[in-house]
Amino acid sequence: MTTTHDIAIIGAGPVGGTLALALAARGQRVLLVDRADLTPMEDEAFDGRAYAIAAGSKVVMEWAGIWDELPYAPCPILDIDVTDGKLGRAPSPLKLHFDHRDVGEDPFGWIIEARSIRIALNQALHTAPNLTLRAPAEALVERSDAQVRLRVGEEEFTAKLVVAAEGRKSALREQARIGLTRLPYHQTGVIFAIAHERPHNNVALEHFLPGGPFAVLPMTGTAEHPNVSAIVFTERDAAAQKLYAMPDEPFLAEVEKRLGNRLGRIALAGRRWLYPLSAQYAARYYDTRLVLVGDAAHGVHPIAGQGLNLGFQDAEALVRILDGAEDPGAPALLARYQAARRPINLAMLMGMDTLDRLFSTNFPPIRLARDLGLAAVERLPGLKKRFMRAAMGR
Ligand SMILES: Cc1cc2nc3c(=O)[nH]c(=O)nc-3n(C[C@H](O)[C@H](O)[C@H](O)COP(=O)(O)OP(=O)(O)OC[C@H]3O[C@@H](n4cnc5c(N)ncnc54)[C@H](O)[C@@H]3O)c2cc1C
Repeated sequence: MTTTHDIAIIGAGPVGGTLALALAARGQRVLLVDRADLTPMEDEAFDGRAYAIAAGSKVVMEWAGIWDELPYAPCPILDIDVTDGKLGRAPSPLKLHFDHRDVGEDPFGWIIEARSIRIALNQALHTAPNLTLRAPAEALVERSDAQVRLRVGEEEFTAKLVVAAEGRKSALREQARIGLTRLPYHQTGVIFAIAHERPHNNVALEHFLPGGPFAVLPMTGTAEHPNVSAIVFTERDAAAQKLYAMPDEPFLAEVEKRLGNRLGRIALAGRRWLYPLSAQYAARYYDTRLVLVGDAAHGVHPIAGQGLNLGFQDAEALVRILDGAEDPGAPALLARYQAARRPINLAMLMGMDTLDRLFSTNFPPIRLARDLGLAAVERLPGLKKRFMRAAMGR
């Protein structure tokens, strides 16, 4: 027996899962397939991984009904410090300070634990009306001008549109022969959390160093660790591997070299994670009855924590464009989605790339130019506000 749906989504990561819930909430019949086991009541221990979620990403999480279900409170980001530095020097003198009050009442965004999004999503995916979830499972997908046919194990489904949300190595993107451009960085991020003596006061820090950016993101405290922050410590590949393998004491000494004592005494909270960094972008966002969202369409440098935000904004655009559509796979709608999202995502990707290249050098004229640039932005309130609104996804 063949079951008919409006939209099939392959990949229930944060973007595919949120999109599925938001579409189903508007009455679309959605089939969602993921090869991972999405246990409904998953409650893993604190592991230190977190996302910076811009204010503009909140709306699609609300449509999906997961914002109010996050089991661990998001930590608002009220101020952002951006500093430039040399290895071994604490992040001072301060070059740029962004205060959320300069652009309104709302915070710049929130730091949300990755497990918090996962738990809220997994619970909702198992109970949402209009949503058929198959996980762990894989789908064989055949697309034609008329429809999409999917085989999942013994079951057959049809849909009018299939959404590729399988992340950076999207099989559907490859099947459709959509070109991909990769920008390797030869940098790796060491991700972890620290418990610290002094409160972070909801301030995020982006400290640019020649090896790569060092970001400190304020997190909501736990009973065990009342003051806690997530750190993305980017270094050249070999140096990052060394850091990852170091015993705790010398590793923390390396962290202190970059952090100074702005947070007082520090200790590790949870384990370390290693992420090789690269950027990539797809040549097109759609094909016959196929559309790409999230990391399947674009992967950016995590320098400004925008990767998932761009994916949430793809999901928001797609929900708006497909709302009430009789045929959600109609080429004109998919072209509208591409026109709405690809130029913005590409501009963000290129901006992050330029920032990384600009700050990953010790070449004196470039150092001088970027120091003058940071100082100039600090003195130009209009330009600062534009940066702040862009960071908030507005
Ligand atoms: C070090 C680092 C730090 C980051 N920090 C931030 C941050 O602070 N803020 C931010 O916004 N972003 C951040 N990002 C980016 C963010 O992690 C990604 O943009 C985000 O995970 C993309 O979500 P997605 O749902 O598109 O893809 P993914 O998270 O990759 O999910 C893909 C899903 O598809 C499934 N899948 C894959 N292939 C198949 C298949 N063939 N069949 C069925 N299922 C399949 C997988 O099991 C998975 O569930 C960071 C990234 C890195 C590397």
